[in-house]
Amino acid sequence: MTTTASERSTTEVAREAGRRRTFAVISHPDAGKSTLTEALALHAAAISSAGAVHGKGDRRGVTSDWMEMEQDRGISITSAALRIDYSDRVLNLVDTPGHADFSEDTYRVLSAVDCAIMLLDSAKGLEPQTLKLFDVCRARRMPVITFVNKWDRPGREPLELLDEIEQRIGLRPTPLNWPVGIAGDFRGLIDRSSGTYTKMTRTPGGASKAVEQVLPAEDAARIEGQEWGQASEEIELLGEIGADFDHDSFMAGESSPVLFGAALPNFGVGQLLETIVGLAPAPTAKTGTRDEPRPVDAPFSGQVFKMQANMDKNHRDRMAFVRVSSGRFDRGMVLTHAATGRPFATKYSQAVFGSERSTIDTAFPGDVIALVNAQALSVGDTLYDGPKVEFPPIPSFAPEHFVVARAVDAGKYKQFQRGIAQLDAEGVVQVLTSDVRGEQAPVLAAVGPLQFDVVRHRMEHEFRSPIDTSPLDYSVARRTDTESAPALHALSGAEVLRRRNDGELLVLVHNKWRLRVIEREHPGLFMEPLLAGG
Ligand code: GDP
Repeated sequence: MTTTASERSTTEVAREAGRRRTFAVISHPDAGKSTLTEALALHAAAISSAGAVHGKGDRRGVTSDWMEMEQDRGISITSAALRIDYSDRVLNLVDTPGHADFSEDTYRVLSAVDCAIMLLDSAKGLEPQTLKLFDVCRARRMPVITFVNKWDRPGREPLELLDEIEQRIGLRPTPLNWPVGIAGDFRGLIDRSSGTYTKMTRTPGGASKAVEQVLPAEDAARIEGQEWGQASEEIELLGEIGADFDHDSFMAGESSPVLFGAALPNFGVGQLLETIVGLAPAPTAKTGTRDEPRPVDAPFSGQVFKMQANMDKNHRDRMAFVRVSSGRFDRGMVLTHAATGRPFATKYSQAVFGSERSTIDTAFPGDVIALVNAQALSVGDTLYDGPKVEFPPIPSFAPEHFVVARAVDAGKYKQFQRGIAQLDAEGVVQVLTSDVRGEQAPVLAAVGPLQFDVVRHRMEHEFRSPIDTSPLDYSVARRTDTESAPALHALSGAEVLRRRNDGELLVLVHNKWRLRVIEREHPGLFMEPLLAGG
């Protein structure tokens, strides 16, 4: 039997998609996201190169190679998407933007991944930004792997942390490993499925990386004594309460495998890598707006999840980050932009790793590509080859900060309009208007106030129309409809506006107490929460 070229490429795409794991880390500032990202990249690189030289299992070799590589390469983690090659898998770690500019971008990134790592600081547990990001994962029913970090420092009891996860967010924790010794006097980790013990020993001479030594249970019990006994009892308890890994509820986002470890001394990072490879799902068919599933081995399709302007100062370009959903991407392909039906040339596509841009020639489902000169694209847009597909828009998130924007120089109204429209298309802020306020004074809505700084800066430097912004005393937005709008508008402490990019009507309310009062005194008015924080 002969196979045709198209059958061959279909199998190639399916195989490549099956090797991919695309994920993001959700965490609160300082939980250790950068440290963990770096540790994952270095650990994977060390395993791969050590694997070639000493065989995969040689952990001591790994540790020393890793330290050398860290010094040599000084890998910096500032990328939009970091590709980590690990054994025969390709891990795409899509970066959630820096903490200072926490904004809608952070949420949108989650639409481009298949799994999230929820990173917790062992001393702090669930923190506000983690909770907000988790809400998005929950809304998407995304599988979440939990990593409890900084176990080398004084922190909370492991059982207490699990309890917090279950009680506060209703996610059932199923630990895969269990710490021996309390946080701060951390001895090592027991792997629950194999029962093996990985002992952590600090390297002599004050080096920051730990050495992992794998021991059978009998030896571990002898060495760790009382601490071992306590950990064993706790593990027994976990079995009794049924906190065992369950694949279906993990995939449905209802339970979460939990790993303890410490990113800084690189302890437990290998287990996390193994868990991502073993449990995180590979890309699967994504469904278009007309309910048509697009299997991963169908012709190319992808969705823009993030836009970025002027990354290169010499080059006023606009870059679109696209998550590949199906098919093989070859640089130079001419794709179709689903929203307009126009062709889009990809001659200058790039992969963005670190602060450097490197050209990529091929990509597969799960990968992230960056398209330059993407002025015509907006967040949420679909690009495809072959049969048409258009993916549903990426949900926009509940803004909590609102300002009125006006051009400083009324003579520059054209530039003002153009700039606001562009920033709206890029999703930098949401733009709201109403007849009462008029087109000259749109309301800008943001998830994080730093989005307004970006707008002010870009309006002045890029669109040559500096703006004044004055804050509005609202902090809650709800979706409403044309029937309820007039009644809501008439209430004090509430205002109805139309979101420009999708025509949705939003009611803005001073605060959640005022919202409750309205809901109580005027039942029946339609006020539906928006996603995340709404
Ligand atoms: P991010 O803000 O989430 O990116 O956090 P960073 O990666 O910058 O880490 C915040 C601080 O926590 C830094 O000082 C790190 O060195 C420290 N840190 C991160 N992981 C660990 C860990 O496992 N153990 C200890 N002791 N410190 C850590």
